[in-house]
Amino acid sequence: MAIVVIRQDDKIDDWKEALQLYAPQIAVYDYREEHPREAVKMAVVWKHPPGSLQGYPNLECISSSGAGVDFLFEDDRLPKHLPITRVVDEYLSKDMSEHVIALIFSLLKNLYHYKVDQFNKIWKPVGYKRISDLTIGIMGLGALGSVLAKDLVRFGFKVRGWSSSEKNIQGVETFTGPAGRTAFLEATQILVCLLPLTDDTKGILNAGLFRQLPKGAYLINVARGGHLVDGDLLEMLDNGHLSGAALDVYHQEPLSLEHPFWEHPKVHMTPHYASVSETISVVPQIVENYRRLASGEELLNLVSEDKKY
Ligand code: NDP
Repeated sequence: MAIVVIRQDDKIDDWKEALQLYAPQIAVYDYREEHPREAVKMAVVWKHPPGSLQGYPNLECISSSGAGVDFLFEDDRLPKHLPITRVVDEYLSKDMSEHVIALIFSLLKNLYHYKVDQFNKIWKPVGYKRISDLTIGIMGLGALGSVLAKDLVRFGFKVRGWSSSEKNIQGVETFTGPAGRTAFLEATQILVCLLPLTDDTKGILNAGLFRQLPKGAYLINVARGGHLVDGDLLEMLDNGHLSGAALDVYHQEPLSLEHPFWEHPKVHMTPHYASVSETISVVPQIVENYRRLASGEELLNLVSEDKKY
């Protein structure tokens, strides 16, 4: 029995090697090489070519090698009713939290502003904010959002969070569902999106939602480009309702060079690298699931077939 690794980036060799090193007893194939398809029991995938999961008659599990699984549901030839697992990993959560916290502190102390002033040789101090001045609102209090919330509380920020089901996180004011969204947004000065991309959340960062934020609010989208209506963000930045946005994710990646985000003075861009799955940390949970498949035990980090996250 075997694992096939399917991804289109330059990390396919790293993943194959890491799996082989950690579990030499399991045959691991790169999907581009000749391999016995009937032997494959698990596919370890990231942004696979649509249709490439077909033709594995004994496939028992699809394992996303990242936290997100939205790319799988975009494949209309995805084999139906197979268990899908994703990554939940301490480093992935910590790295995301550190990325967002770095952005927030840069904002507090106007560091982007001064970088631009430096290029233009402008010496002009501007008022800064303090931790106690800011309320951070996090959309999505899952594996990543909950760690960020706790870290921000430790720094002394006022923190609120929004999710589907109720949460109890010390020091965090929590809101749920569509009914709780308005109250959640109305006092949020920095909005962080850490939702999964699903039919319910596609385009959720739109003009209607932005209008519910206080004037001068700032957006940090580190979840998926599909959450954001780009034109609505540009409109809200240009009319001054939002003071700025930090984006790590985009509808198209890499972002087309014609896109207005590149040159917008209020947009701070990073290249979808807030937090990445490290093979050394993630491979053990994938191999553990491979073992569980054989023993019939419940798999770790299962994606809900109904909720699609
Ligand atoms: P989880 O599935 O653990 O958490 C998702 C959270 O969103 C949960 O709290 C869930 O609520 C909430 N949620 C889902 N749908 C809704 C909805 N319709 N309304 C309100 N709340 C909702 O995901 P992770 O924290 O592991 O990851 C979040 C996303 O971050 C990933 O899907 C991925 O897109 C992105 N990501 C980005 C990375 C980057 O480098 N930029 C790296 C890794 C991930 P409940 O708890 O009640 O189910």
